[in-house]
Amino acid sequence: MLTGIREMEMTDIPEPVINNNNDVKIKMQAVGVCGSDVHYYTTGRIGSQVVKYPFPVGHEGAGYVTEVGSEVTRVKPGDRIAIDPAMSCFECDQCRAGRPHTCRNLRFLGCPGQSGGCLSEYIVMPENSCYPVDESMSFDEAAISEPLSIGVYAVKQSLDMKNVKAGILGFGPIGMSVMLAGKALGGKHFYVTDKIDQRLMEAGDHGAVWTGNPEKEDVVSAISGKEPELLDVVFECCGQQDALDQAFELLKPGGKLMIIGIPEFDRWSFSADAGRRKEICIQHVRRQNECVEPALEMISGGQVDVKDMVTHRFGFEDTKKAFDLVAGYEDGVMKAMIDFEIP
Ligand SMILES: [Zn+2]
Ligand SMILES: [Zn+2]
Repeated sequence: MLTGIREMEMTDIPEPVINNNNDVKIKMQAVGVCGSDVHYYTTGRIGSQVVKYPFPVGHEGAGYVTEVGSEVTRVKPGDRIAIDPAMSCFECDQCRAGRPHTCRNLRFLGCPGQSGGCLSEYIVMPENSCYPVDESMSFDEAAISEPLSIGVYAVKQSLDMKNVKAGILGFGPIGMSVMLAGKALGGKHFYVTDKIDQRLMEAGDHGAVWTGNPEKEDVVSAISGKEPELLDVVFECCGQQDALDQAFELLKPGGKLMIIGIPEFDRWSFSADAGRRKEICIQHVRRQNECVEPALEMISGGQVDVKDMVTHRFGFEDTKKAFDLVAGYEDGVMKAMIDFEIP
């Protein structure tokens, strides 16, 4: 449970119970530590979503089904599952319009005011959030389908990846998910920036055509030197104003800016003149919509290899250590996983 700014405690709570006929009880096996969890840990909020303590976070999870409600048909006890953290109502205007990710009554796992998270030995979720996976997929991989699905969704909302030149500014797990999904969907030209050199090495290993550290070089002139016509699409994956400024400079006229990063400040700014002259299209990305299943298929089909994303592993009791590591960007961390089988 988060208990204060940079404070976290192990707490005994009653085991959750099945309340609805479509509920599934899950014994957690793996939970990924997400940048958004760490925002709640270090600042107690993301924008208007404010933590009320004590609060359990975590939304990138996988585990075993232990019990199901009377009407559940998708899964049965013993099944291994990946979890889609979004619990939509399927009745409101957004849900009916095919946008359950912006459901008016959305309950999102580990989101303050909506639902407690999955950093817990057991949780209960509706069956619609449960995706069975087979033995060939590890629980780590199943849990990573959540951030990967955001990459898949961001890429699908952008441009046809074949023949486009793309920038990825910020190569944490989301930037990496964008590149892996973009490659799986036919992309070949990715220019990647990050302030951590180990992450740039990872990007190079996974086929980025160029990588650069904005703290050590002028990434705009380096990329525009290689691509004088500039980039078709830029994915902002770090929530930093300087990256947004670079994106405006890197985009060609008619280019598309995808904003995925979660900033710690309240307002973005950009040049009205540059935006207008280049007719830049700006698209925000809100988590993902209907992309957990494609993400799982990319992993099980071998089009995407997410194994390298996990750089650190901690037992459940050491969750705080994992959060401190990610909060401090220590040791070249990409994704830290909580593994419930580690004693
Ligand atoms: Zn996340
Ligand atoms: Zn809804």
